[in-house]
Amino acid sequence: MTIQTKNILSRRNAIKLIPLSIMTATSLNANWGEAPKKSVTRKKFLIVGGGSSAIIILSTLLKSIKDPDITIIAPNEIHLYQPGQLYVATGIFDNDEITKDNADFIPKSVNWIKEKVETFLPDENAVVTNTAKKVSYDYLIVATGTQYRYEYIKGLSQNDIGTNNLASVYINDTDKGTAEGGPLTWKWLNEIKEASKERKQTVLFVKASGLLKCGATAQKIMYMSADYLKKHGFSANYIYSTTSSRLFGSKIVSGSLEKAQSEYDTIKNLYKHNIIAIDVKNKIATYEHKYQIKEGWDPDFQEWESIEDKRDIIKVKYDFLHLVPPMSAPDALVNSTLCKKEGMFKDWLDVDEETLQHTQYENIFGIGDVCGTPLGKTIPSAQHQAKIVLKNLQSLINKKELKAKFDGHSVCPIKVGFGEVVMAEFNYSGLNPSFQWLDASKPSWLWWVYDVYGAKPLYWYGILPARV
Ligand SMILES: Cc1cc2nc3c(=O)[nH]c(=O)nc-3n(C[C@H](O)[C@H](O)[C@H](O)COP(=O)(O)OP(=O)(O)OC[C@H]3O[C@@H](n4cnc5c(N)ncnc54)[C@H](O)[C@@H]3O)c2cc1C
Repeated sequence: MTIQTKNILSRRNAIKLIPLSIMTATSLNANWGEAPKKSVTRKKFLIVGGGSSAIIILSTLLKSIKDPDITIIAPNEIHLYQPGQLYVATGIFDNDEITKDNADFIPKSVNWIKEKVETFLPDENAVVTNTAKKVSYDYLIVATGTQYRYEYIKGLSQNDIGTNNLASVYINDTDKGTAEGGPLTWKWLNEIKEASKERKQTVLFVKASGLLKCGATAQKIMYMSADYLKKHGFSANYIYSTTSSRLFGSKIVSGSLEKAQSEYDTIKNLYKHNIIAIDVKNKIATYEHKYQIKEGWDPDFQEWESIEDKRDIIKVKYDFLHLVPPMSAPDALVNSTLCKKEGMFKDWLDVDEETLQHTQYENIFGIGDVCGTPLGKTIPSAQHQAKIVLKNLQSLINKKELKAKFDGHSVCPIKVGFGEVVMAEFNYSGLNPSFQWLDASKPSWLWWVYDVYGAKPLYWYGILPARV
């Protein structure tokens, strides 16, 4: 596949900048201190999962503990670089460029059980796999990622994606290390291009409610699609829907995205709109729109005299629809006692948002997408969390107070078109850019070069082996 860009760097020139971009990225989170002394323990560690978070924490433990006793239960022989799915969906990468053998990251000294955990038995410090193998542990680290829940939307199932003009770049099977979302969305995008020759299409970009991994992907794919069509001389009626009241948590980034939207003059935003049904055959999306009507501001009491909660049902006829689906922890966890049972973190792993320790079981920690935390569903989050989990495990083993705290660190490279990325770096306190001079609130070609050419090698050779 070939990259089709506007007046940005040529691919050759961009490649020359790889070392710079890698250095830039490396210094984002680099730990330039002395190599830490390895601690000693014969405790049994069990890691469940074989994606980004599991491998990062595995590498971190191997680096920090002398001759550790580690078992990892992970079904996937193939490791998937999921951020690359978006670049497959936009014709920049091929699917075979975003995978590697998981054996490259799991040394032979580690007991790797290539199965899935079916049952968690936290009261017995054990899990049971799909072949009924019972595996016990002293410390458990849960890194199972998410499960997509297309079926939460009435009328829809995951099998509908790729049919009837429906796409979802997210589709992958992390157990097998395959990702259909990229190719099917690339096909979908080209179908919009073809249909645009007849008439202007209505294209919906839907962000489902709840916790989502790298949730800005709903906008990334919209801007990339709009730019792709623009380059071919077409536009469409784009409609973006979200349950939020603005484009991004940070007002500054929101403002920057609004500006980016004006490049594509037909984007309409539906805020506080939750997708509840899709009529796949007739191409009708149904949203629930919740809002309040406030009347009579009283300056003395500093309050409204009346606030009325409203709920409208809105139906939109579309030609094409891209969906970022609802998500939860995988079934094995949802069916266990380890997930929250109510509230906004319902069906997510019940960990403290700072220490990442389970709130009921002190010898269980969570890392990555599976955690029921307000932020932390990106690779840099997992990278930061690994350091926190390591320190808190060491404290626990040494019977000390758990002092390491995850600050919610997350980084989201929002592609606002071919050649431009808004690098939003934030934590629980708000925007937290590493480089003030790069102005994280504005699109930058440098971040694009980093994201396309530097981020993937950095992931394979720096982040997964815990070298940065
Ligand atoms: C389209 C897309 C774009 C993205 N863009 C970005 C981006 O630009 N930047 C960024 O930082 N992040 C991005 N992300 C998010 C990023 O990929 C995730 O945050 C990251 O992969 C999380 O890693 P994880 O290990 O927590 O979960 P995963 O990588 O999903 O791994 C979960 C693992 O657990 C295993 N597992 C599941 N259930 C069980 C079980 N019962 N027993 C044993 N093993 C089990 C699975 O087989 C898998 O190996 C994107 C994701 C997608 C899909």
